[in-house]
Amino acid sequence: MSQDKPNDQSRMDRIVSLAKRRGFIFQSSEIYGGLNGFWDYGPLGTALKRNLKESWWHDMVAGHDELATPPGAPTPYEMTGLDCTIIMHPQVWKCSGHFDLFHDWLVDCRESKRRYRYDHLQGRWAAHRGKRVFVVTDQSGEDAGPHTVTRAQKFFGLRAKQVEEIEWEGGLVPLATSVAAGAVALAEALGPDAAAPGTLTEPREFNLMFETRIGALAGGDDDRAFLRPETAQGIFMNFKNVLDTSRVSVPFGIAQIGKSFRNEITPRNFTFRSREFEQMEIEFFCRPADSAAWYRYWRDRRWKWYLDLGLTPGKLQLREHGADELSHYSVGTADIEYAFPFLAAGEFGELEGIAHRGDFDLRSHMEGKLVRRDGALVLETGPDGKPRHRGSGKDLSYFDDVTRERFVPHVIEPSAGADRAVLAFLCDAYHEDEVPDEEGKPRSRTVLKLHPRLAPLKAAILPLVKKDGMPEVAVDLYRRLKARMPCMYDEKGSVGRRYARQDEAGTPWCLTVDGQTLADKTVTLRDRDSLAQTRVPIDEIPDLLTGRLR
Ligand code: ATP
Repeated sequence: MSQDKPNDQSRMDRIVSLAKRRGFIFQSSEIYGGLNGFWDYGPLGTALKRNLKESWWHDMVAGHDELATPPGAPTPYEMTGLDCTIIMHPQVWKCSGHFDLFHDWLVDCRESKRRYRYDHLQGRWAAHRGKRVFVVTDQSGEDAGPHTVTRAQKFFGLRAKQVEEIEWEGGLVPLATSVAAGAVALAEALGPDAAAPGTLTEPREFNLMFETRIGALAGGDDDRAFLRPETAQGIFMNFKNVLDTSRVSVPFGIAQIGKSFRNEITPRNFTFRSREFEQMEIEFFCRPADSAAWYRYWRDRRWKWYLDLGLTPGKLQLREHGADELSHYSVGTADIEYAFPFLAAGEFGELEGIAHRGDFDLRSHMEGKLVRRDGALVLETGPDGKPRHRGSGKDLSYFDDVTRERFVPHVIEPSAGADRAVLAFLCDAYHEDEVPDEEGKPRSRTVLKLHPRLAPLKAAILPLVKKDGMPEVAVDLYRRLKARMPCMYDEKGSVGRRYARQDEAGTPWCLTVDGQTLADKTVTLRDRDSLAQTRVPIDEIPDLLTGRLR
């Protein structure tokens, strides 16, 4: 059945179609043709995303017991939260490194006018009857090879059966490394959408931060500001404020959920790579000596969170970065990745990164922009010997009252994307199966097997027919349940169709009021996943479902 094949574009298309049809996710500004990389959440999607963020906040912050030592944690710790602005002082981004370094390389195609991320392009040499060209594709995974074949066929003007005549030299190689090694010149490269070689421009740096201007007299460089590309910096800005006002002591974490903006060159794969998205980030401050243990704790804790909320273990991967992949400040980083259906078999997309950032962030905001030199982080200076970007000069160190020591805390950062998590949970929950209809005949159904905590609606209350006093009893149950959890009342259409609507919305429980209800005050409780139908006394329903949601 289709859900057993995780990597499948047609499955992804069906998920996108359900997301739109049932009001989970819409393209932004759709009536004007949409805006690439921007997405709106519809009624069900808003509830799903809110439930996801609330689960995160509850499990990481509000429900955290600072008196206990959670399994795997070195000691008890405190958690608190912040809600910072999207636009901050421009110096924040200069010292954090985003102003100088937060860029991708892009190439334009002079012919097709399309724009590509340089690091996403790969290609291979093809020759036919003395003509030779380096065929470039922007596709990834299993789609890349066939795409180069189609492109070469068109370029050489061959019919399908002549494709075998093309001589290929070697396999696919990244365009950037081939150009750097001198094995390919851009003049010889056939762009992914071009008819002739030599239309790709030299790669250029492109900063991913959205720029804006502050104030009515905008114009000079002093008015220039940026929309935050991550929520983390707001937390570092307030590190001292939190310390001075909330009695927390190291080790402790500060969490924040909020919008971030990145002017991605090629937004794609539905909401996976958007230009406006939401992050759920924690900056966890600890003693340097304990930081490796805290890194392991957060990596494992965050991994378990996705599993506890029901993501299929076989589709989730925890990947430690190799030394060559680590940022210049990072002591260790692991990504939690999911096998999204739009990726080729064996490929995974990042849901969350957990990084050991050492004292890089707090020091950067004290001293100024840092660079790694001979293994140590030092202040970056310009040709005049002055700091390239000056820090705040404020003391962001921590004084430990018990040990009487002063130090700059080390930081562990679990950084998750709310939109990518919603997409992973949607993809994982999407199933197509068969259920018997009212006459017992098999009927295909689409069902979202979402964890009850994430499900937009927890229950639907359905009177079997719109008469004989059933609606009155059902409405009464609806009102009692609604006081405790999101649920809906539905009396329109056959009960089979009403079940089907709830299955597509991911509602875990349907409660049907029928003739027997009037006689013995029980309702049928239908379970979305097992399809089991049990009779439960109507008065027990609110406590029963509340208990199941815990
Ligand atoms: P990628 O390599 O996929 O661009 P990243 O490593 O740059 O991601 P981080 O800077 O570590 O991502 O951001 C933390 C999290 O924020 C990511 O794991 C992801 O869930 C989310 N995120 C980052 N960029 C985007 C985006 N363009 N659209 C949606 N979510 C994003």
